[in-house]
Amino acid sequence: MTSRRVPLRPAIDALPAYVPGGRAPVGAAAFKLSSNENPYPPLASVQAAIIDAASDVNRYPDMFATELTEAIATELTATLSDAARDGDGDIGPDQVVVGNGSVAVLGHVVEAVVDAGDEVVFPWRSFEAYPIVVSVAGGTSVQVPLAEHGRIDLDAMAAAVTERTRVVMVCTPNNPTGAAVTHTELMSFLAAVPGDVLVVVDEAYLEFVRCDDPVDGPAALAAHPNVVLLRTFSKAYGLAGLRVGYAVARPRVAAGIRAASTPFGVSHVAQRAALASLRAKDELLRRVDSIVDERTRLVDGLRAQGWDVPDTEANFVWLALGDRTGRFAAEVRTAGVIVRPFAGEGVRVSVGEREATDLFLRFTAGWR
Ligand code: PMP
Repeated sequence: MTSRRVPLRPAIDALPAYVPGGRAPVGAAAFKLSSNENPYPPLASVQAAIIDAASDVNRYPDMFATELTEAIATELTATLSDAARDGDGDIGPDQVVVGNGSVAVLGHVVEAVVDAGDEVVFPWRSFEAYPIVVSVAGGTSVQVPLAEHGRIDLDAMAAAVTERTRVVMVCTPNNPTGAAVTHTELMSFLAAVPGDVLVVVDEAYLEFVRCDDPVDGPAALAAHPNVVLLRTFSKAYGLAGLRVGYAVARPRVAAGIRAASTPFGVSHVAQRAALASLRAKDELLRRVDSIVDERTRLVDGLRAQGWDVPDTEANFVWLALGDRTGRFAAEVRTAGVIVRPFAGEGVRVSVGEREATDLFLRFTAGWR
């Protein structure tokens, strides 16, 4: 037998590794502020739903997550603004596609519309999964540099759209810089982008936004059939470990995303937990308020120490440390805080427990 090797697709071979924050070492006295997770454990009602669902896992889950999809559609419809209502009316279950975390849903969105050689435009630096899902689908990434203060440069993004562009991603708030676009900015951008280019508005951190004129995703979707909203239960709803995310789109686009999706992609346990979380929405959003308060304390504390911190609308802050990034990440880890370094660029620090903020600020006060 000759020693032959299975060839990998060049696009796969060339992929950068996705570097997750990982789980904090068991037993270590460390705060894990590296994955933008929710510091609160699941509510008792959510834990009860998880335990209850466990007795059914010998069966496949509901393939279409019917109850969850309907609950999401009902929730979206109940909270529609007048601007969204003026458009296409209610949001039906045929417009919602759930998947194994919003990162998987994003992959299905891209697979549904991108053919080999098609271009996908996105801001950079942004969510590190973007270039990966594009390469896996056989597409070509077109990265548009951020503007000042980690803000997405929507004008440059619109200018980057060509005949080959099939998808544009707008990450707002942007991971890892935290800057959000306003609704007015998004609507002008959508007016400038051709209607046959899918615009994915990645709203993973939507619930943490407190700026004036926040993006109204359903209103954007009502006005522009080429919009897809991407949302998740991982952040504000605190279910990162169970992997539930979803897309909201016009029915035809949603059907395409569903067709590209992994069958039974969301487990029964995850479906029940997400449903229980929707039922406990008010309580969970009060926790989000606390996280936002903690964010203010962290940003104000850092600025008072002289750090240059861009405005953030997410559950994390960005420190553009340049070539001091590696040293900072290593030293703060020794002090008991795990942050997410982006080599040569900066660190992203999630907003966590009060004690984590205290410890982090004690560290930054003395670091140069
Ligand atoms: N979008 C953005 C901008 C993110 O930061 C993340 C998680 N880091 C995701 C999507 C994916 O989240 P999940 O797959 O847990 O829903």
